[in-house]
Amino acid sequence: MVNVENESLITHLKSIGYLKSRNVEKALRNVPRENFVPNSVRYMAYRDVPLYIGKDQTISQPATVVAMTEALDVKEGQTILEIGTGSGWQTAILADMVGENGIVYSLEIIPELVKFSKENLEKMKIKNAKVFKGDGSVGLEKHKPYDRIIVTAGSPEIPKELLKQLKPDGILLIPVGNLYLQKLYSVTKKGEKKDLGNFMFVPLKGKHGFK
Ligand code: SAM
Repeated sequence: MVNVENESLITHLKSIGYLKSRNVEKALRNVPRENFVPNSVRYMAYRDVPLYIGKDQTISQPATVVAMTEALDVKEGQTILEIGTGSGWQTAILADMVGENGIVYSLEIIPELVKFSKENLEKMKIKNAKVFKGDGSVGLEKHKPYDRIIVTAGSPEIPKELLKQLKPDGILLIPVGNLYLQKLYSVTKKGEKKDLGNFMFVPLKGKHGFK
């Protein structure tokens, strides 16, 4: 059955020029956002706004998730590290895009959100995404190197550990700035940066995050 509200969100994201690729559009259909928000805000799941998921954290605005996913240029079979699992929605989108031969590792620092995101991913029967509790500002040595690393919280700097854990042709996507406004950067392993515009994210915590 067609999910009319999700279709209308997809149409909106195309009309504002954020949603461009077929594989991102397919992932949005396969992993509806309503499955990643608390029951109390489910009626707002398809609005293009961030929503509260508890513990002072939000599921990102759909336009932001789509802009980041497009910028990440995800391919089937890739190994991706996500920092800041939150609800698990972005994780699920990436898992759909890498397919059964790829894998997404995701780190979340708040134990309650580790549990929430794992439950959401399990309900959706997503097998190629693994969530761990930990400080993602230092990356995840165990499963390196990564084709892509995506940071979904605003950072005061570009942590060198993350660049070290990238494959030679890998991409790191990270919002960098102060507590209130960040610039989203696409960064190569050599440290070459592309500015993708201004965004507002919740702060990255941990060793290389905000104190
Ligand atoms: N993309 C997520 C989604 O689809 O729901 C939203 C992520 S939310 C904007 C940012 C997340 O980063 C929060 O859940 C926060 O707890 C987490 N976070 C902040 N600092 C972190 C760190 N050092 N390591 C891992 N997770 C962190």
